[in-house]
Amino acid sequence: MINVTRYNNLIDGKWTGPSSETFFPNVNPADSLDVTGEFPESTIEDVSAAVEAAARAYPKWRLMPAPKRAEILYHAAALLTERKESLARDMTREMGKVLKEARGDVQEAIDMTYFIAAEGRRLHGHTTPSEMQDKYMMSMRVPLGVAAIITPWNFPMAIPSWKIIPALVTGNTVVLKPSPEAPLSAHNFVRILMEAGIPPGVVNLVTGTGPVPGAHLVTHSDVSLVSFTGSTETGRAINLSVASSLKRVSLEMGGKNAILVMQDADLDLAVDGAVWGGFGTTGQRCTAASRLILHQSIYDEFLARFITRVESLRVGNGLDPETEMGPCVNESQLYKVEKYVQIGKDEGARLLCGGHRLTGGIYDKGYFYAPTVFGEVDRKMRIAKEEIFGPVVAALRVRDFDEAIAICNETNYGLSSAIYTRNVNDAFRAMRDLVTGITYVNAPTIGAEVHLPFGGVKQTGNGHREGGPTVIDFFTEWKTVYVDFSGRLQKAQIDS
Ligand code: NAD
Repeated sequence: MINVTRYNNLIDGKWTGPSSETFFPNVNPADSLDVTGEFPESTIEDVSAAVEAAARAYPKWRLMPAPKRAEILYHAAALLTERKESLARDMTREMGKVLKEARGDVQEAIDMTYFIAAEGRRLHGHTTPSEMQDKYMMSMRVPLGVAAIITPWNFPMAIPSWKIIPALVTGNTVVLKPSPEAPLSAHNFVRILMEAGIPPGVVNLVTGTGPVPGAHLVTHSDVSLVSFTGSTETGRAINLSVASSLKRVSLEMGGKNAILVMQDADLDLAVDGAVWGGFGTTGQRCTAASRLILHQSIYDEFLARFITRVESLRVGNGLDPETEMGPCVNESQLYKVEKYVQIGKDEGARLLCGGHRLTGGIYDKGYFYAPTVFGEVDRKMRIAKEEIFGPVVAALRVRDFDEAIAICNETNYGLSSAIYTRNVNDAFRAMRDLVTGITYVNAPTIGAEVHLPFGGVKQTGNGHREGGPTVIDFFTEWKTVYVDFSGRLQKAQIDS
């Protein structure tokens, strides 16, 4: 029996086993014999202990000057940089994305940490003249308290960093509940924060499978704000569960993103973008280009070139430098892909490539699925509207620009969109009319940078944004202060 490392929760600065004394394994999706570790199956009591530790740590952390909080975060960014390679390898093992992309994920956490830590010297407020002499008025940003942070598995270090770093620099304390599919990267990230000098209780980590730990965390009465990224289904459940408490909630959820390719597009560029956008991270990005909306005049030529490229993608273990696409994250995700491929066939779409599990050799050890493309997809089909979150792309044929925009906009989601065109007027109309939080011109639907707002509209997001300087709006609220130094009662106009 191979020795498997056992990891603990982090509560009040101590690595603590679960009160259930039960651990769950995390298995490499490219190799089911490779167990990356065993992680605590946390109980409600463990989650409560983590929240209580965060609540106790809050008064002191809130009062630490923001530039000092930022210094600790800069130190964390330096440690992340130093250990980037081993962090990336752990990530590839735990959730399967190819090593290059895992390095990118860690890099995003580094970039976010440096970028947002700088807010420690930039938490500007406002001053404004008063109606009265000898009176100053100002508004300043203040933290809220304990932040509950719930993350998915597909960006195991980037997404926790998008939430934890702004929460910390603004003076909140944190309880992180990561996905059970990616607990090791969460563990690695939190360990580095502690090494950088985050005081005990300021950051806590609890892991677990099933909805119980996350559901208890978000509804705990000592939690002031909830930042969630995951599926729309879970986001909706969280929103309902906290509605009566009036907590602040940020929800970033599913997507059904499209690339529009117009008649005048640079087809080589568009094919490159569609391959990377559709099959990067095995199609398991929230921004994955799972729909191609193709002008009828280039439809056949585009698909011919696209299919040639897709069929040549090298699928395998993400640790192999030759691999271009890794496995699905787990068996249930693989089943979901199989189910949707069957739905696509039943609906009458034309299977152009893939459409089956990969078997034989290394494929028998993991959850590998062939990159799959459907043509002649109708806008009413489920594969054109629902998020599959796997290596499946649906191609739709359109008559003109207006139809392309209309089809792109008719899903319930609104995260990312892209248009390939050389027509500057169409590019600007698309930027204006595509109902998504992010639009790319002559680039695929993926590839966000940390210093711009990131997030979706409609059922993808509830209006907050991650990244960019405005992320601190979610993690702070405004405190208004009036200072009267006249030494007598001065009344505002409304009172006089
Ligand atoms: P998921 O909704 O299954 O799980 C997300 C997290 O919620 C996990 O940590 C899970 O344990 C936890 N959870 C589950 N039930 C809960 C409950 N009742 N209360 C509280 N927490 C609960 O999503 P996933 O499979 O991990 O991630 C894939 C989804 O995430 C896709 O839909 C993808 O589009 C979306 N996603 C969105 C973005 C974005 O920024 N919009 C980014 C990445 C992923």
